[in-house]
Amino acid sequence: MSMKLINNRYQIGGLDVIALCEKYGSPLYVYDTSKMKYQYNKMLNAFKEVNLKINFACKALGNINILRFFNNLGSGLDAVSIQEVQMGLKAGFNPKDIIFTPNCVSIEEIQEGASLGVKINIDNISILEQFGHLYGNAMPVCIRINPHILAGGNTKISTGHIDSKFGISIYQLPHVLRVVEANHMKVEGLHMHTGSDILDVEVFLRGTEIMLETAKNFHELDYIDFGSGFKVPYKPDDYFTDIDMLGKDLTRSFKKFCKTYGKDLTLIFEPGKFLVSEAGYLFARVNVIKQTLATVFAGLDTGLNHLIRPMFYDAYHQILNVSNPKGKPRIYTVVGYICETDTFGWNRKISEIHEGDYLVFLNAGAYCYTMSSNYNARLRPPEVMIYEGKDYLIRHRETLEDLLRNQVDVKL
Ligand SMILES: *Cc1c(COP(=O)(O)O)cnc(C)c1O
Repeated sequence: MSMKLINNRYQIGGLDVIALCEKYGSPLYVYDTSKMKYQYNKMLNAFKEVNLKINFACKALGNINILRFFNNLGSGLDAVSIQEVQMGLKAGFNPKDIIFTPNCVSIEEIQEGASLGVKINIDNISILEQFGHLYGNAMPVCIRINPHILAGGNTKISTGHIDSKFGISIYQLPHVLRVVEANHMKVEGLHMHTGSDILDVEVFLRGTEIMLETAKNFHELDYIDFGSGFKVPYKPDDYFTDIDMLGKDLTRSFKKFCKTYGKDLTLIFEPGKFLVSEAGYLFARVNVIKQTLATVFAGLDTGLNHLIRPMFYDAYHQILNVSNPKGKPRIYTVVGYICETDTFGWNRKISEIHEGDYLVFLNAGAYCYTMSSNYNARLRPPEVMIYEGKDYLIRHRETLEDLLRNQVDVKL
């Protein structure tokens, strides 16, 4: 955790968090870029013996300043929609450093990506066939393979299982090869992404072995993209992917493969969570302490409209009381202000809460702001980026005008 307790006050990057809450108001998203850089370098270091390219998965955290930060680090971009591609280009990414990996989109959207010059990753045979018919060997492609390894505890975020809509089944390889040959297509890359929260390095390595075996069928490869899904700790003593161990094992098999393949291929990863989850914080204020017959609720000035992961994925986000760091621990059920059951956590031990205190949700960097909404006509919070000891407002708090912007009042 990059938030530190110094003299009974929490700081991020040397900045006092209560002061940040008072300056920008509550609720508030804060991102610590030094943690992102740390994670980026950790991954680089674990794979220093191969040609590694890291593509930040921008659906995790899409603010253009964050994208530019990763571009400056030397990262590429993993985009899953044409709008993410356009955001990446706006942030200054070279088109060749963007891989467009959409799922179940129209051929028109893929063509738009191709016209922008980004790398195209195709995840079904129908589109592969149409793309090959349109471009032949004039436009190289990457193919998303589903190796059917089962990773991740949650089927909502696992994409490698048999009923998954993602990727082309490894068992359809003969059909893929037929389409590629008939259209004289240049396959420059192979890709897998088996979902988020991979618990087991062994399982991941099994997937990579299947990919390397598959790669022998393609003779013009430049890269193999092993996707992502690395697990980060969400609570103290939580399990997380041992990236150094993965680095050691995968480097060995990748180098061996490159030798027999006769070419030094690029190994690509496209992490979202690994790079930004722990760098993000959501601060919120306690509106009410509400004692019912069976529990004590702490009701906040935020809800599932700002942080839906606990309700959507049963995700655990650690919650701390930054206004009273050393108070007596007491048991609370922390809930939001939405007219919907939006429980952030049951029976949490948190240092004694008073109305008006600021709480913080940890691991609020990935899939938090990007999954937020205006449900209940609530406004989205501002985003603040901490860079080299300074805070920068990178998104305004929304206003009523934002909610009304695209509504057409026909005044019947
Ligand atoms: C979401 C996604 C990622 C990032 O996954 P994380 O678990 O956040 O690292 C990578 N690649 C693709 C294709 C994705 O859809």
